[in-house]
This record gives sequence, C-alpha cells and structure tokens, in this order.
Amino acid sequence: MALYKVYLCDVLDAIGSARRKDVRSHLQDYFNPIAQGGGFPEGALVDYITATPQPAANELLIYFMPFSWSIANQMPGTTFVSPLGGHDGLTKFSKGGEAVSEVYANSADTRVLANLAFHEAMHNKLRLGNDMHQQKGLASAVVDNAMRPSEDNVKKMKAALKTERPQWTGGVGLMLNKARQKASGDPAWNLTFP
Ligand SMILES: [Zn+2]
Repeated sequence: MALYKVYLCDVLDAIGSARRKDVRSHLQDYFNPIAQGGGFPEGALVDYITATPQPAANELLIYFMPFSWSIANQMPGTTFVSPLGGHDGLTKFSKGGEAVSEVYANSADTRVLANLAFHEAMHNKLRLGNDMHQQKGLASAVVDNAMRPSEDNVKKMKAALKTERPQWTGGVGLMLNKARQKASGDPAWNLTFP
C-alpha cells in the first residue's frame, strides 16, 4: 500500500460546508510529505467519509464534533473524559487497543481546526497523553492558526506512520443515525449521545 489514508468524519456538519474544503486541504499539505517520508511514496490522501470506512490498521480516522459533543466517550472499554475539560480535542484508547480521536469544532478558523486535527493525530499515532505536549510545535497543549507541524513533529509522525493503531469506526454509524434524525426534522436530534 503506497498511499496513506486519513479519514475525516464530519457527518454532523460541525465544520460547515464553507470551511470543509480548506480544513481538508491544510491536512493534505501536512500529511503528504509525512507519508512520502514515512514509507508511502504516493503520499497521503485526506478525505471526508459519508459511510463507515475500513481504515488499514495503521491509518487514521478523525471525528469532527459539534462543540460539547463527544463521540470518543461512546467507544466501549474506556472511561469518560469531559469534552469540555482540556483543549478542543480528545484522543483515547480502549482496553482492546482501539484508538479514537475527535476535534471539537469550536472555531471558524480552518487552520485552527486542521491544527487541532493534526494534534489529535499525533496523540493517536504516538500513543501519548499529555506528556506529548512537551514536544512543542503542533504537539503543544495550545495550538493557534500561525503554527505548522515542526520538523520534530514531522519526524516523529513519519516514524510512526506504519505503527498499527486500529481506529474505532463505530462512531460513524452513531453519527450517521444522528444526521438522519436531524434530516427527518426530529427535534430530539440534538440531544447529545446518551
Ligand atoms: Zn493534546
């Protein structure tokens, strides 16, 4: 497999259609050189999904959530983490070893959203908690729109790209159900997950 895929899930339209293209494009720019230097000569393919994907065990899935919603907390085999407690994203690992990363779309700035997604992707691939924030660049606890992946961020991600880190895809179906509920006009659609 010579192409590295990064799946983005925004089926609840948290990013918004006007900004979706730019978020993808920023992430494509970040991941392309990482993939090429990390053993995937054809580079990266970052794109949105409309159905449950089947990522390879070393690929990535990032969920974009309306602010204060968490899909990561729906993953079986983990303890609850408040989506409002830390920075605008969360990455967790289940007892079974599955990874889930989400970004809370609490900004209209496409660069901030892309940077948060890259930050969570680093937590996911490097399997590090808050210790990772010491690595600086986009690994920092707070990211803004002026930041880009540092040389060190890129190096660490290149080295981790082939590491198997199976992604939890079960959230996509849960979000698609919510999207259907919304489309049908059910006013209860925006009650967050149980
Ligand atoms: Zn973090």
